[in-house]
Amino acid sequence: MDEIIAKIDDPETLSMVKKIIPFHGYLSSGAFIGLQMLQIAQRLLDIKEGDKVYVTCETSACVPDPFQILCSSTVGNKGLKILDYGKMAVTINKRGEPGQEVAKGVRIFLDPKKTAKYPVLNAWYMNERKVPHEEVLPVLLEAGEDVYTWQFVDVPVPVKTKKNIAICKVCGESFILIDDEDICQGCLPLTERSNPTN
Ligand SMILES: [Zn+2]
Repeated sequence: MDEIIAKIDDPETLSMVKKIIPFHGYLSSGAFIGLQMLQIAQRLLDIKEGDKVYVTCETSACVPDPFQILCSSTVGNKGLKILDYGKMAVTINKRGEPGQEVAKGVRIFLDPKKTAKYPVLNAWYMNERKVPHEEVLPVLLEAGEDVYTWQFVDVPVPVKTKKNIAICKVCGESFILIDDEDICQGCLPLTERSNPTN
């Protein structure tokens, strides 16, 4: 792994990698892909250090972590949303201006039509065989932006609404209302929950 890190000659990328390693536990291919996606978005959307960045990540594996450590977009501060579609794709946008209904964003994905040119990366991506990160990372480094496809998108700016709180008639605990239900999500049968996977 140290050999791979020594190959990173861009100081900004290197500094990002050094923050990701202790946060994620190691440098995985997916975490590096998240880093590359962030760099593409920084360029396309002119994101400066310290800008609040909103990210929707279409996988829960590895890719969300670089955004949490590098731009403080976390689940808890609503900077990071995960739609676990099992896709190597993210949508990134900056904070919308006051009064704006949509913010300019970009959706970036690791494009299988483009990874096809890189057999080792593609074998890892398509899970054709077990490919160690030590083999995938140098390919990602070499390929750079060449394996990604992106498109500008309008991201709706969420409207802040007042939270209404109720006491659940089953467990007696308080919860934030979605509609006007009287039973919390935790007490509802799985099939009736709004987020059955959560
Ligand atoms: Zn309850």
